[in-house]
Amino acid sequence: MLEFTCRHCGMLITIDESFRGKPIRCQNCQTDQTVPAATREANVLAALQTFADVEAKREPRPRPPSELPPGYALLQLLGFILIAIGIIQIVVAVFILAVEKGIVFLFLGIVSGLITMGLGSAFLCLRQIGIDVWHTRRRQ
Ligand SMILES: [Zn+2]
Repeated sequence: MLEFTCRHCGMLITIDESFRGKPIRCQNCQTDQTVPAATREANVLAALQTFADVEAKREPRPRPPSELPPGYALLQLLGFILIAIGIIQIVVAVFILAVEKGIVFLFLGIVSGLITMGLGSAFLCLRQIGIDVWHTRRRQ
């Protein structure tokens, strides 16, 4: 659409671009006048609009799959399972071994539980490092 003001009454007239350079009558004061022809600015704007339309219609670039390489889900699962086992070992050591077998087994149970949990945490760290490296590589 094209906007211009009536040269007689100054009312803002909105009209389709196809009326450029053609005679019209102001709805307000009934003065006959010519719709301004296309200006250079209007041409540039129209060209920009066309370009924007073409860009908008263009197919979005196919994005590479963002799934993590296989193995990372397994690594995470293993990490969580090991941490859970470690916690169970410590609980068992505190509530069962300590009562039935004595202080040495309590100590051994807690140590082995901590080692298992540490191993699980290491798996989770490894997974995170792997993901970070993977993302860094993909950005290059
Ligand atoms: Zn007018």
